[in-house]
Amino acid sequence: MSPAWPLDYAVFEPYYAQAERLFHVHGQRGEDPLEPWASTPYPHPPVSHEPRIAQLDADLRAIGLHPFHLPLGILLDEKPDGTPTPTSVCMRCSFFDGFPCLLNGKADAQVICVDPMLAAHDNVTLMTNAYVSRLGTDASGRRVDAVHVTRNGGEEIYSADIVVVACGALSSALLLLRSANDQHPDGLANGSGQVGRNYMRHHMSVLMAVMPQANDTVFQKTLAFSDFYFGADDWPHPLGLVQMCATSHAPQIRGEVLPEWLEWLPRMPFEQIARHSMDFWLQAEDLPHPDNRIYYKDGMVHLDQHETNPQALHHLKRKLKQVLTEAGHPHVLLERSLYFGKDILLDGTAHQAGTARFGTDPATSVLDLDCRAHEVDNLYLADASFFPSIGAVNPTLTIIANALRVADRIRERL
Ligand SMILES: Cc1cc2nc3c(=O)[nH]c(=O)nc-3n(C[C@H](O)[C@H](O)[C@H](O)COP(=O)(O)OP(=O)(O)OC[C@H]3O[C@@H](n4cnc5c(N)ncnc54)[C@H](O)[C@@H]3O)c2cc1C
Ligand code: SF4
Repeated sequence: MSPAWPLDYAVFEPYYAQAERLFHVHGQRGEDPLEPWASTPYPHPPVSHEPRIAQLDADLRAIGLHPFHLPLGILLDEKPDGTPTPTSVCMRCSFFDGFPCLLNGKADAQVICVDPMLAAHDNVTLMTNAYVSRLGTDASGRRVDAVHVTRNGGEEIYSADIVVVACGALSSALLLLRSANDQHPDGLANGSGQVGRNYMRHHMSVLMAVMPQANDTVFQKTLAFSDFYFGADDWPHPLGLVQMCATSHAPQIRGEVLPEWLEWLPRMPFEQIARHSMDFWLQAEDLPHPDNRIYYKDGMVHLDQHETNPQALHHLKRKLKQVLTEAGHPHVLLERSLYFGKDILLDGTAHQAGTARFGTDPATSVLDLDCRAHEVDNLYLADASFFPSIGAVNPTLTIIANALRVADRIRERL
């Protein structure tokens, strides 16, 4: 069972709206039947479908599904025909997804926050090559008074009235564990023993549907459907989300382990496979489990992982095959590795959360509802580690919205 969060969606909603404005989210309210209420429309229109995806959209609708425009954070301005305007930063190329954008067209943290902030404020410094090795506390153990940094081969110590840790779900937990001291013998802010536990990652898979017709879509990541999020007619439990992902490129397919029948072809038609493929990203929920845990043992990092919900992804794949067939898209469905493993295993995880969950009870959570450590007055965590559960949707808008919320709480203290 996926645990409920200790704060309602209504608390987060204004921050989602703020995050959507800040990160130039393009989308269309009212299309996704599972969409929660929102106080504002998306700040930018949805990224338009190219003809083949528009056809898929129509075909899925014809069999009763509810595909929607996938919300995207992107610096794209489209003309009415869907092509980028002359001043659009993004040019709708085929490398959206796990590729760096050479034009800075992705609305990511560096483009949207870090670079503009450095340009606008003389009193902000970004230190590169800086590794925070540990946090020290004063004698009471209630206040972080030293941030130990390894930089360019040397050790430096910084202090601040308020310290915000945002190293990501794994590294934030490790930093707290490395910072054990006399007042916090099991790790900083870890009186509950919860630091590092309840680690969650999505169960993910990339499926490439190879079809008789060519797919000339360039920018493919524009459609998703959530019809099986809470279950299906033949499976009563939640399954997850299906979304399109970036177009397959021939060198990627060439670099992957393909089924035997393809290996035997004298000249593998990678270009042809890429041209005839349509690529789907499937995502199912991972449930929190106290023994899914990152920790140090004998000076080494250990990550224990027990499968919590393996059936969901399996059934989601089955449903995708079924609906593509019903929608009249004959296909061979291959598992793709994209930039990760096939069924995307631990080493390819992109979405991870948990490890320092927030809550009202210091015995069972690491952070209070403001994401301040229960046991350390001036220490906040503002990354994915606070999640009590991860759902099956992409996590980053929630991480951003929560960071904006935490920033408001900190501002009230200053
Ligand atoms: C290829 C790829 C594609 C993705 N696509 C999507 C997507 O489409 N939608 C979506 O919602 N999410 C996506 N994600 C996931 C998204 O990137 C993460 O959910 C998000 O970045 C997590 O934010 P965070 O603040 O928790 O941690 P991070 O963004 O990982 O930030 C942690 C930062 O802390 C730094 N750090 C760590 N330890 C230390 C230390 N000891 N000292 C100093 N600095 C440290 C790291 O270098 C890093 O800069 C994708 C991820 C990947 C890898
Ligand atoms: S990489 Fe992505 S953001 Fe950059 S131009 Fe291409 S589609 Fe646009």
